[in-house]
Amino acid sequence: MKSGHLSENEIQDYVLNVSLSSHDQKGHVEQCEVCRQRIQLYHAVFESIAQHSKPAFDFDLPDLVMTKLLPVKKHHIQLDLFTYTLGLISMSLAGLILYLFGKEMIGILRPLSYMGIYFVWAAFGTMFLFNAIDIYRKFEKNMKGIEPG
Ligand SMILES: [Zn+2]
Repeated sequence: MKSGHLSENEIQDYVLNVSLSSHDQKGHVEQCEVCRQRIQLYHAVFESIAQHSKPAFDFDLPDLVMTKLLPVKKHHIQLDLFTYTLGLISMSLAGLILYLFGKEMIGILRPLSYMGIYFVWAAFGTMFLFNAIDIYRKFEKNMKGIEPG
C-alpha cells in the first residue's frame, strides 16, 4: 500500500482510467478517505466538463438556416410570355382567317342561324378577353416577383 496520498496526476489517472493505477495506489484509495473525496471531486469535475463539451446547438442548425432563407423566387416569365405569345399569335391567325375568309365561312355556315355565328364570335371574344386579362395578371405578378424587396 502507498504510504503518501496520491498526487494530482495520479488522482486524475485513477478517475480517467483506474486500470492505469498501480496496485499500491488502489490499495491506498481504498483505505484513505481524503483521496476518495478528491477522486469524487474529480469525477464531478470531469462529468461537468463532459456535459459542457456537448454541442452547444441542440437544434439542426442547417435546417434552421435553410428555413430562414427566403424561398427562391421562381421566374416562369419567359415560359409564360412564350406560351401566351404563341396563344396570341394563334388567336390572331384565327382572327385573320375569319377576317379573310369570313364571308366564305358565313356562306358555309349559312344554314346555321346568324345567332349561332354571333354566339361563336362572342365566345371567341370572351375567350380572348379572359386570356388578355390573365396575361396581364400573370405579367403583373411576375413583375412584382422580379422587383427587389
Ligand atoms: Zn490518500
